[in-house]
Amino acid sequence: MIHRVTDLQTHRPHPARVYDYLLGGKDNFAADREAAERGLKANPDSRIPPRENRLFLRRAVRFLAEQGIDQFLDIGTGIPSAPNVHHVAQDINSRARIVYVDNDPIVLAHARALLTSHPDGKTDYIDADLRDVDAILDAVRRSGTLDLNRPVGLLLIAILHFLGDEDDPWGIVERLLAALPAGSYLVLSHLTGDFRPEAWEKVAEVYRNQGVTMRVRSRAEIERFLTGLDLVEPGLRIVPAWRPDLGEPTEPAPSDAQVSVYGAVARYR
Ligand code: SAH
Repeated sequence: MIHRVTDLQTHRPHPARVYDYLLGGKDNFAADREAAERGLKANPDSRIPPRENRLFLRRAVRFLAEQGIDQFLDIGTGIPSAPNVHHVAQDINSRARIVYVDNDPIVLAHARALLTSHPDGKTDYIDADLRDVDAILDAVRRSGTLDLNRPVGLLLIAILHFLGDEDDPWGIVERLLAALPAGSYLVLSHLTGDFRPEAWEKVAEVYRNQGVTMRVRSRAEIERFLTGLDLVEPGLRIVPAWRPDLGEPTEPAPSDAQVSVYGAVARYR
């Protein structure tokens, strides 16, 4: 792992810290809390998507571990929020190996909490940007934590909505998958404006005014990420409806509009 002194840019909101605040975490600054509060004004249910997304992440990782996937590449890790991917995966298979990737210095600063692997397995952290696929793949190869000749669970959970269309997120997903062998899986989740377009446009504007890209997408745009893959049942769903049997349900159940996050698990042939 590389230790670098970095500017945390506390004067402007960062997605990882806004997300942390909405989840009830403590690793955020005034600018993050202000942006989150402005987002909550635009959409008072703004705490529901992060919570339900995090529950989806746990169920999806459990599902993959139960399918025998023992290597994970988690891009857009976020500030550690236990249980993290390695806790869930290593609970099922203590030898599971996880490489975490994020481009935010605050996540790097907290990376130690991600390097608490079970001694049978291994975790590593890479400071890199999803838009630089080659840099990610080079660093993964150099790390040696994952064997790219064996199936990998690629996790792109609540990150793709931070890429604009001009970044060609579809091409990025394709290139990442092309580096993985058949039998690998993609887990993705993505914010949608399908149910409350005006509210989410306002939330996106809060980010945009601070120089952060946020692009909620329609169901059809999110489906495009899954082109050519074998969708695992029940397919692309608003996240609480994705295999609720694998976790604890939220009571009372939130509506699709409140959640506004689609999620899917798909297998790469
Ligand atoms: N996957 C976690 C965290 C989601 S928050 C979860 O679902 O709970 C989104 C994360 O993606 C943040 O930590 C943010 O820093 C990271 N991120 C956003 N754009 C990124 C990019 N271009 N490259 C790498 N990480 C990015």
